[in-house]
Amino acid sequence: MNYTIADIATLTGASWLQQGDPVTINHLLTDSRKLLFADSSIFFAIRTSSRDGHQFINRLYAQGVRSFVISQSMDPTLLPGANLLLVDDTLEALQQLASRHRMRFSIPVIGITGSNGKTIVKEWLNQLLENDFRIVRSPRSYNSQLGVPLSVCLMDPVHELAIFEAGISRPGEMNRLAAIIQPTIGIFTNLGLAHSEGFRSQQEKLEEKWKLFDSCSTIIYHKDGGIIDKWVATLRDNGPEIFSWGTTEECAMQVLPDFRIRYRNTEFQLRMPFTDEASIENTLHCVACLLYLGIPETLIPERIVQLKPVSMRLELKEGIHHCSVINDSYSADISSLTIALDFLSQQQQHLRKTVILSDIPETGLSAARLYEKVASLLHRHGIQRLLAIGPVISEHLHYFEEKGIHTRKFISTDAFVNRFDEIPFQEETILVKGARRFGFETITALLEMQEHQTVLEINLNALLNNLRQYQQLLSPGIRLMAMVKAFSYGTGSFEIANLLQFHGVDYLAVAYTDEGVALRRAGIHLPIMVMNAAPSGFAALLEHNLEPVLYSLPLFRQFGQYIRQEGLNSYPVHLEMETGMNRLGFATGDLPELTRLLPVSGFKVQSVFSHLAASEDPAHDDFSRHQVRLFEQACLSIATVVHYPFLRHIENTAAIQRKPGWQFDMVRLGIGLYGIDSAGTGDLHLMEVATLKTTIAQIKTLGPEDTVGYGRRGRIDRPSRIATVRIGYADGYPRSLGNGRGRMLVAGKEAPVIGSICMDMTMLDITGIGNVNEGDEVIVFGGELTVSRVAEWAATIAYEMLTGISQRVKRIYYQD
Ligand SMILES: *Cc1c(COP(=O)(O)O)cnc(C)c1O
Repeated sequence: MNYTIADIATLTGASWLQQGDPVTINHLLTDSRKLLFADSSIFFAIRTSSRDGHQFINRLYAQGVRSFVISQSMDPTLLPGANLLLVDDTLEALQQLASRHRMRFSIPVIGITGSNGKTIVKEWLNQLLENDFRIVRSPRSYNSQLGVPLSVCLMDPVHELAIFEAGISRPGEMNRLAAIIQPTIGIFTNLGLAHSEGFRSQQEKLEEKWKLFDSCSTIIYHKDGGIIDKWVATLRDNGPEIFSWGTTEECAMQVLPDFRIRYRNTEFQLRMPFTDEASIENTLHCVACLLYLGIPETLIPERIVQLKPVSMRLELKEGIHHCSVINDSYSADISSLTIALDFLSQQQQHLRKTVILSDIPETGLSAARLYEKVASLLHRHGIQRLLAIGPVISEHLHYFEEKGIHTRKFISTDAFVNRFDEIPFQEETILVKGARRFGFETITALLEMQEHQTVLEINLNALLNNLRQYQQLLSPGIRLMAMVKAFSYGTGSFEIANLLQFHGVDYLAVAYTDEGVALRRAGIHLPIMVMNAAPSGFAALLEHNLEPVLYSLPLFRQFGQYIRQEGLNSYPVHLEMETGMNRLGFATGDLPELTRLLPVSGFKVQSVFSHLAASEDPAHDDFSRHQVRLFEQACLSIATVVHYPFLRHIENTAAIQRKPGWQFDMVRLGIGLYGIDSAGTGDLHLMEVATLKTTIAQIKTLGPEDTVGYGRRGRIDRPSRIATVRIGYADGYPRSLGNGRGRMLVAGKEAPVIGSICMDMTMLDITGIGNVNEGDEVIVFGGELTVSRVAEWAATIAYEMLTGISQRVKRIYYQD
């Protein structure tokens, strides 16, 4: 986009709080961490339940941003030269800007909504039509109240077709999105059960979603399901044209057996590249849209066969030579490149960063402008090396060289693969980003570590969702310490810590010194509390600026002596008070001695804390209250000798949920971050972060005389199919789950364990579960099968299940 600041004032209907330097705006910024082009960006200070954009204005000003849209008055003299546009609601202002921007274009705009498949249909239409039109589309799944205006603002005079998706979860939301997208062609994917929380009925949900289509001249939908079809029948006659598809004759596009398609007077045969129902429905939506757009039916089948599965996931995996690999080898365009680079920037574990990038398909910009822009993006994200693949990007490497980026070019993916052994990769983060036709899967396969096909997948979006759920419960100003001990409850170490650091957590806590050292080595600069520091690790504490918990007088004296010996003063420490957990902590009786020693100790007390023994259980609330009282008294005693403010904290996950009154200055969030509701109140929208998956190595057909596994404990009483899967107790799948106690999900159905669990393998009884083959994926826990449920079968708790998954199981981190 290209507007003067005065244009923006007019388009958003803002009033000037201060008129600063005239600037041209090319970039919209709503997340202060994603600043790239300070002079040409305008920041919308948006308020959400967990943060307020106005807090970041000073920092952005210091970084050179001079244009702000705000909804609360501020002292303009503090921001000399800045343009301050005042509006009632910054999100609405952004939406209004997008809506006005949209009105400048008269190209066809496809608006997609429905419960499932929006992103896939959008991406497939882009795949199918990219040679016919210059297309602008929503990046990834940008379909929310914020994502939609950001997508629509990408529209530019070079574009010939726009494809945007719209997603809602509550009544009243669609009108706002419809006013921004103003689609001319609507696609309604389907009406599922997903996201129905905010709606009273299916009918209400349908009607709300349908509001997207108010401006459409045509709506494409699948006629075979009952409720949508009944609804369409009630629409006015002079409404939009309806392009229906389905198995019946009244449909504009009729789908005959075997995917023969009848349209007007012609018939043609489709070959489906997918077999699952959802993909088939999505494909047929696309076919209908192509027909409507006038793509000749002779061309359609060959394009459909080439459709590729859409993965909107950005994945981070462990790579060869201690590298981290981010795999986004599915598409290459500027907006998805920007998102991938942001993801890369969150990961600070390596100083060196390399991007492997293919030619970027036609975007409307000249190649020179395009690669100049890409070069400055890479530069701003601190990329040191570019491995460029393809004839066009290879011609434009000077733009990158000018920015100090080392480059190397390869004419094709094959050329790269052939020379792979000569290219050095060592302790760096590598982003692999290529257009589909470059087939970068071969490159990621070379870079990634081979897995033994049992993986723990970590959903980073879920982690952030959970973080926000708990942040919402905090009173203003309360800090949050994230517990990342035991590899972040088994989910990972620096990968998780990096993300938490990026998203503004205040403190991290680990159990032991070496865990803290590993985080420091991976570039974590947040303060880190070490709960169980031993004298043998004192040197490492100091070297890595880790803050130990002191919990007893002997430890206090030992560490004090060490500090003085090193000539240090004011070393940050935390004091743990015993109030009833009876694990670690200073007893009340230690307080006189502690308060005598503190003033001469050479310590700076960062915080004083205690731990609740039964915060999840209402039956023990009186005891918890007693603990809090003892804690408060201890804090008061300490404050008589420590004359600067220190943080006080006692709440863990369950307490945050149940006891808003005990937040003091900080809370310590543990298991809830990983999606487990330890308070059991069920009133938060938590998402489980970890999914443990394995694969089937072999399937056997056995009869009543056979037995399965060690000790012949797996008895068979009927003709049975038995699958051997690649996970055992050495991976952390408890042996107590043997002999029918545990179950795994095979093809979406629960299959019981048969026989005893082996060290590396487990046998499942899959009798009666259809369409299961060797090599198929099996879910051990995650999704439908919650880790808490599996833990219960094993007579333990989710904490132990998660932290017990052995380190030989590879972790894969992804973001949708
Ligand atoms: C592990 C731990 C927590 C976090 O507990 P959750 O129940 O996982 O929230 C908090 N404080 C201390 C001292 C801990 O050891």
